[in-house]
Amino acid sequence: MPDYRAAAEAQREELQARRRDFHQHPELSFQEIRTAGIVAEELQALGMEVQTGVGKTGVVAILEGAQDGPTVLVRADMDALPIQEETAAEYASLHDGVMHACGHDGHTTIALGVAKLLSEHRDRLRGRVKFVFQPAEELGAGAQAMCEDGVLEDPRPDVTLGLHLWNTMPVGTIGIATGPTFAAVSIFEITVTGRGGHGALPHETRDPIVAAAQLVGALQSICSRDVPAADQAVLSVTSFNAGTAYNIIPPAAKLTGTMRNFSPKIRDLITRRFYEICAGIGSAMACKVDAKMTHLTDPVVNDAATTERVRTAIQRAAPSVILDEDERTMGGEDVGLFMTDIPGTYFLVGSANEERGLNFGHHHPRFDFDEECLPIGVTTLAAAVGEFLLPD
Ligand SMILES: [Zn+2]
Ligand SMILES: [Zn+2]
Repeated sequence: MPDYRAAAEAQREELQARRRDFHQHPELSFQEIRTAGIVAEELQALGMEVQTGVGKTGVVAILEGAQDGPTVLVRADMDALPIQEETAAEYASLHDGVMHACGHDGHTTIALGVAKLLSEHRDRLRGRVKFVFQPAEELGAGAQAMCEDGVLEDPRPDVTLGLHLWNTMPVGTIGIATGPTFAAVSIFEITVTGRGGHGALPHETRDPIVAAAQLVGALQSICSRDVPAADQAVLSVTSFNAGTAYNIIPPAAKLTGTMRNFSPKIRDLITRRFYEICAGIGSAMACKVDAKMTHLTDPVVNDAATTERVRTAIQRAAPSVILDEDERTMGGEDVGLFMTDIPGTYFLVGSANEERGLNFGHHHPRFDFDEECLPIGVTTLAAAVGEFLLPD
């Protein structure tokens, strides 16, 4: 077994410099041109066969081992978010309104580190690693785009592995649960149309604000009254827009929101109740309710056998890390698409450091992580891949 930790440690300065460079030059979903260019160049320099423009801006590279064996897909995402960075970091974003606020700069850096580390063991590698650098995770669209471009074929992966930095977990902890780890994501839009009029004469109107307010309340009863308590689900109304003046009842109100769950059964139940409640409140309040629920991504489900092997590999390679086998989130991740019919493990690498103020949540303008997680990420992800391709 290679000394993954020593090899990752040897990359420490390079990892930090690369991450800071990506952080200073964030790119929005499907616009990861510079990032993809650097990734492609690095992988080519390692002697890999590289394919660019997969799923618009994605990069795929194969590290072919000296001997035959399975194909392991390693996935990293590259995109940033439309957020104005508010950290005082010397490596803060140079682009107004765009920021790596989810840690994907770290993911790309770590996967490149893993590519470098494993390419040093190519002569002993039994099988191949398919490195997938994905665009547009934040839109929940990049994995789909890459799948449409055939990323899961020729060769088809036998195992999918990947990680997400996790700023609610201290650096040095790895979250690795069996079963569902990231939730299925749906979004919804509701337009309530009534009849506007004077604020002093509501009886001459059909007030869409009162109807929409009742919808907000009633929709909350789905998760508390319809979903069995042992199942996890969330429904949040995240915008409520109506009206223009203090004395006008507007003609319409608009709500949007998101729904999360871990199973198709619960997703279908919530969706059915969502439409029933919308229709029911519409008729009770004599307003027209147009509702639309759209399912974006499936849950990320960690395969039990694969995950057990990855846990063991991580423990052997990095005995000092703490494994948390319960960490799961209602957040979404489109890596699940690479794991639908392919067993896989997607784990969380703790990246927070409370003492240094590096514990703002993902998508926060002050999000930043403890770079100690970079060598840990390389060690653990490389060891996970090695478990399937590098015999002792
Ligand atoms: Zn994110
Ligand atoms: Zn993310």
